[in-house]
Amino acid sequence: MVVHTDLNMLSVLQYAVEVLKVKHIIVCGHYGCGGVKAAMTRKSLGLINKWLRNIKDVYRFHKEEIDGINEESGRVNRLIELNVVEQVMNLAKTSIIQTA
Ligand SMILES: [Zn+2]
Repeated sequence: MVVHTDLNMLSVLQYAVEVLKVKHIIVCGHYGCGGVKAAMTRKSLGLINKWLRNIKDVYRFHKEEIDGINEESGRVNRLIELNVVEQVMNLAKTSIIQTA
């Protein structure tokens, strides 16, 4: 199952795990992600969605490490990696996964 957003799609997760009996879920990101890059800027993003808000939280948790990287592309890519780690933890905490 591939979900390129966040856990807004809990109903998809629930269906996959409980009905389709999916046993393995891959959480992945991709380097150079424009969504993550946008989340790192201070610019207003209009109606900010939950996915971008989550990424802003991950940035806040790891601000010191990320801000210590010189290149902008390096900062974006490190946040992409940290976001994957964070989303695996979020996924593991859901009642759907806990129950399974
Ligand atoms: Zn992307």
